[in-house]
Amino acid sequence: MSAYGNALRSLVFDLDGTLYTCKKLGEQIEEAAVYLVATSRGLSMEQGRRVLHDARTLLADTPDDLPPLSRTCQELGLDLRDFIRALEEKVYPERFLKPDPNLGALLRFLQERYDLYIYTNNGFFLAGRILALLGVDDCFRQIYSLEFAWRPKPDAEALQLLLADIGGLPESFLFVGDRYHVDLREPEKLGIPVFPVHAVDDLLRLPSLLGITS
Ligand SMILES: [Mg+2]
Repeated sequence: MSAYGNALRSLVFDLDGTLYTCKKLGEQIEEAAVYLVATSRGLSMEQGRRVLHDARTLLADTPDDLPPLSRTCQELGLDLRDFIRALEEKVYPERFLKPDPNLGALLRFLQERYDLYIYTNNGFFLAGRILALLGVDDCFRQIYSLEFAWRPKPDAEALQLLLADIGGLPESFLFVGDRYHVDLREPEKLGIPVFPVHAVDDLLRLPSLLGITS
């Protein structure tokens, strides 16, 4: 028996922190954002870091719920296209990531029964590189990256566009993510089931929750 009902058809995964965790890659992504803030404002890296940090703190709902870097850069008046370009130029996932056979086996198992999607605040190119390095780039029907709506998560309007693009009733979706306020709060408001991931191993519980243990 599935904990999510029998209508489930589409599993929508966040990428960073959900399908993999890598502190160094996270730091490199943050440094790319710092670089963008610094160069666009004529600041040193140290000053740029402070501007970004202060903006994230100011925009946070609570001290634990820092907004995504993409949204913070947007709030600082930066163009999301420049954010994506900074990621492409400054982030090297090849240095940190390798194929994850457990993740691959899990996703291929799920893929036989559901349509799998990625919904990420990463750019399309970097997201594709990360998925390829993890060895799971063939598992997803579609990658909804920042370019899809140019509105970083959490965003009700972008979410509606994504749901309409995939199609189906709220109960046909399951959203999976590591940051509740970024990945799961908006879908949950619409009555969509959600699955919070605290560590990548949590994903391995999905088959039994879905009632499809082999
Ligand atoms: Mg995440």
